[in-house]
Amino acid sequence: MKNTVNPKEFFSNLSSHPSKQLGQNFIKDYRVIDRIVNVSELSSDDEVIEIGPGLGALTFALAEKARRVVAIEKDKKLADYLSQSFHDHSNVELINQDALKVDYNKIYYGHKLKVIANLPYSVSTPLLFKLLEAREYLSSMVLMLQLEVGERIAASPGGKTYGSMSVLLQTFMDITSEFRVSPESFWPKPKVDSVVLKLIPLKTPRTKVSDEVLYERVVRAAFSSRRKMIGNSLQSILSKESAAKSLELAGINKKRRAETLTIEEFGALVAKVSMLETQP
Ligand code: SAM
Repeated sequence: MKNTVNPKEFFSNLSSHPSKQLGQNFIKDYRVIDRIVNVSELSSDDEVIEIGPGLGALTFALAEKARRVVAIEKDKKLADYLSQSFHDHSNVELINQDALKVDYNKIYYGHKLKVIANLPYSVSTPLLFKLLEAREYLSSMVLMLQLEVGERIAASPGGKTYGSMSVLLQTFMDITSEFRVSPESFWPKPKVDSVVLKLIPLKTPRTKVSDEVLYERVVRAAFSSRRKMIGNSLQSILSKESAAKSLELAGINKKRRAETLTIEEFGALVAKVSMLETQP
């Protein structure tokens, strides 16, 4: 499967270096690629979006299995190289653009897409929220992330890593942590471990969310000051009275801290905030 150029040679031939800003750490351990492909459960009917194909190590493996691979690469130099490498692969489409600016519904032709990526760590958080927004077009996401970010996403209530990102993503998606990857598997070697997560959009959210914008506002406000009691942190968006009333109606003690609330409790709280806001 070794179709791709050695990244170190590629950059040395160009007398240049991988970009830190673009999170360029290329997979050099092909067993990691096999494991990502296995977790993705690809079939010949699948359509895939790969974010940040780099020099195509993962892209070649995806193109062997899937019907269609749309690879979105921001770096022009890499995108130019990739369009030459894949010129005889009719199932691979290259988009030289920032994945944060791509309109995913334009790539969707009626068949839900699988997103598979060794994400650029520099933009993994905004990309996750972009994918959350695009979830109606996606059947699953298999993403390699910085371990610390992966832990925050998959965290359960009560722990230090449980925060707004855990709540917002887990409300709308099933998330499983698949396997860890050591820095040795990449060139250049990143400073931290990585993890591969699988995210599957839920048909109905884990808790009733009638207003997604309000849900996000309340969750973010609740976690805005982790050491504060929730009754106080909600005062960044609500009056003292509304904060206390909505918590009371939702059956949540105002002295609790946001990291102890379950997703269902956030759902109940936002429903009460919404009810109070719409009352004359
Ligand atoms: N997929 C390759 C691999 O696993 O070897 C490269 C992965 S590397 C961690 C991340 C890739 O994402 C780089 O090729 C980088 O240029 C690209 N990238 C960074 N920011 C991007 C963005 N906003 N949109 C699209 N691609 C981006």
